[in-house]
Amino acid sequence: AQAQIGVTGLAVMGSNIARNFARHGYTVALHNRSIGKTDALLAEHGTDGNFVRTETIEEFVAALEKPRRVLIMVKAGDATDAVIEELASAMEPGDIIIDGGNALYTDTIRREAALRDRGLHFIGAGISGGEEGALNGPSIMPGGPAESYSAVGPLLETVAAHVDGTPCCTHIGPDGAGHFVKMVHNGIEYADMQLIGEAYQLLRDALGHDAAAIADVFSEWNTGTLESYLIEITAEVLRQTDAETGKPLVDVIVDAAEQKGTGRWTVKSALDLGVPVTGIAEAVFARALSGSRDQRAAARGLTGGTLGAAPTDAAQFTEDIRAALYASKIVAYAQGFDQIAAGSAEYGWNVDRAALATIWRGGCIIRAQFLNRIKEAYDADPDLPSLILAPYFRDAIEAGIDSWRRVVVTATTLGIPIPAFASSLSYYDGLRAERLPAALTQGQRDYFGAHTYERIDKPGKYHTLWSGDHSEVSA
Ligand code: NDP
Repeated sequence: AQAQIGVTGLAVMGSNIARNFARHGYTVALHNRSIGKTDALLAEHGTDGNFVRTETIEEFVAALEKPRRVLIMVKAGDATDAVIEELASAMEPGDIIIDGGNALYTDTIRREAALRDRGLHFIGAGISGGEEGALNGPSIMPGGPAESYSAVGPLLETVAAHVDGTPCCTHIGPDGAGHFVKMVHNGIEYADMQLIGEAYQLLRDALGHDAAAIADVFSEWNTGTLESYLIEITAEVLRQTDAETGKPLVDVIVDAAEQKGTGRWTVKSALDLGVPVTGIAEAVFARALSGSRDQRAAARGLTGGTLGAAPTDAAQFTEDIRAALYASKIVAYAQGFDQIAAGSAEYGWNVDRAALATIWRGGCIIRAQFLNRIKEAYDADPDLPSLILAPYFRDAIEAGIDSWRRVVVTATTLGIPIPAFASSLSYYDGLRAERLPAALTQGQRDYFGAHTYERIDKPGKYHTLWSGDHSEVSA
């Protein structure tokens, strides 16, 4: 049988997406480095649809109709390069390779250029939604040449999640655009999770609620503007009881968060692009701090001071936390979308941010009601200087600003760490400030390094003769 699509790399993601294709009526050629995973998939789910079992790359390539379409779902990094090389040697000009792994976008740019030189098409597709999404409909962010997308887009759009009849898959832009936006998606996910974590800690430590009571708060929040997958699963995680101890599971899990690297990549890229993604950066650093177990153990006895006073009105403070979470979330998304705009400008991708918000509404970890509002904001003004300035978000922040400040003040006096809440508020205040201390920074830079400054009253660059008579000269 000639298969319409091949999937190589049949761990959780690859096998689920292969089944997803098969369930949609496509004949799927299966390949994995070691045959065990292929046979396990066929034994357990062979009835999901039409599969073609192959052992070698040559067999795999021969099983595909032309132009051949292969989705790679292997470990990101060297493994992806190895598989691409094997495939490229066996394929013919015009064939298409899709990398659905979590590749670094600069690797995708390099791979696309190299394969283009060999007459092959390469699409770097960010795929979100974990194993459940892969099986039932992920959010797919494909980047690559437009003509290559036309040959694979219909297949990808069929297996993607759908929201209001719209597939959560659209051509993002050339070469690394898809993996770049998937990276930022993961960065935003880090920020979202950190903000939820801070809300949880405040409900626990400032209000003294137990896990079950906090689960109820999150469930309640999930009926309003915060409605999202992450809030929903937060309530479920908090409600889980440990079978062994009878305690809430969350209370027996070690409080050291791990990471695989996409959050870190997002921050590194933001540093290079000069985009302040403070929410994402705080989230990545908060995981690092949680993992500094020796230092934390040594520091446990340090004083928190004497200012702390728990909130007296629990209902009001709970509402304050909700508002702070929502406002900080708006900041994190605004920053993430700024990074996408900056990356798009840097690499000439022309990413449509409204379309991006649309395909994040389903099938991915950050899916949320909220994304409809982001789409509307960019539809109304594609050149919006910041999401914060869209009327809907501006109103939301202004409605919650006092709550946000009360949360930051209260947490600070109680000594409860809220890096993302606090830095998001500082970002907001920095953005709206009339005058920033950067004027002083420029003065200092000019003093020690003759780096020059601009004046508010006339054009040009100036330098003060700090070690001379302190007169100003045109630079
Ligand atoms: P893993 O990242 O654990 O990768 C395992 C697969 O890679 C196996 O099929 C393995 O083959 C294959 N592999 C590893 N090294 C090589 C190599 N040198 N040559 C050939 N094949 C190799 O699997 P996942 O399913 O978790 O993820 C697949 C991709 O999807 C990754 O890039 C991941 O980052 C990305 N992703 C994962 C998500 C998730 O929720 N897990 C979500 C979104 C994206 P073998 O069986 O022979 O060892």
